[in-house]
Amino acid sequence: MAEIIGIDNLVEKFKKELITEGKKQSDGFLLSVQSGHAPDAEAYIRSQKKMAEKIGVDFRLCRLDNSLSSKEAFLKVKQFSNDKEAKGIIINKPFPSQWNSQEIFSAISPNKDIEGVSPYNLGRIFYGNPYFISPTVLAILAILRFLNLDLYGKDVAIVGSSSLIGKPLALLLSQEFATVSITHIATYKKQMLPFYLQNSDIVISAVGKPGLIKGEWIKKGAVVIDVGISRQGSALSGDVDFEEVAKKASYITPVPGGVGRLTTLFLFKNFFKARCLTDARY
Ligand code: NAP
Repeated sequence: MAEIIGIDNLVEKFKKELITEGKKQSDGFLLSVQSGHAPDAEAYIRSQKKMAEKIGVDFRLCRLDNSLSSKEAFLKVKQFSNDKEAKGIIINKPFPSQWNSQEIFSAISPNKDIEGVSPYNLGRIFYGNPYFISPTVLAILAILRFLNLDLYGKDVAIVGSSSLIGKPLALLLSQEFATVSITHIATYKKQMLPFYLQNSDIVISAVGKPGLIKGEWIKKGAVVIDVGISRQGSALSGDVDFEEVAKKASYITPVPGGVGRLTTLFLFKNFFKARCLTDARY
């Protein structure tokens, strides 16, 4: 039976670091931009606000009209980014369907891009010289480090290949010499997910489909990290069939109470890093 990865210690450690850091600096504010009222975005924004209050960060929420065109939203974000006092910017997903995420994210100054979504920061990962990395990816990496895993030569399957989680994570893990398979919707449709997962020492799923990852697909002793979050009524579920997968895995993260608990902490770690930057080029 898998051990549930107890990230309480990690959470406490990072919280303490943030509180100390928050006392050291106080200038500027964190700007969180919301479009529409998707329940998933609301939950993330609530946790941003709560954490900001806890650690003494000036947090401001701005709503953008859902009817804006992609170009208009780009110009708005550019304007926010030019505000000297806005030291960190988050554009919460989901977006209205007419918005082009690459266009919107490219409006964020790279030195304020605390979610690591701008083409510049994603490009730095490609070149093996990252600066701002997505807080979710940082949370996953922190969990792997916490387990003291030697990634060298390990087989890793990432399920879900988004530009915000799956792809940057794959690059970062391959830079640590893990052998990474990036699986996605086509892998699933061709019924090849079991093949990749059965051969993996580490499985990381970031899709958003409850029960997608089955127990019989998991190699005995594998580490399973569930990033997916789906809302079913008032309950949250991950991608992993927890009961069945836990019978095969050595370590597993639950949902809720897993990766998500660390994500907001890493967002604020990135904010503090951004607050120290004075030059637009770094
Ligand atoms: P996304 O942009 O929708 O990406 C999901 C990925 O999964 C896409 O690559 C998609 O492929 C792929 N996919 C869809 N159905 C699949 C299937 N049946 N089998 C294999 N791959 C499939 O979402 P995201 O922003 O990366 O987020 C992923 C999940 O993580 C969501 O549930 C989100 O709520 C959650 N999340 C959690 C945290 C946290 O802190 N725990 C933070 C952020 C996000 P196609 O695009 O080709 O369909």
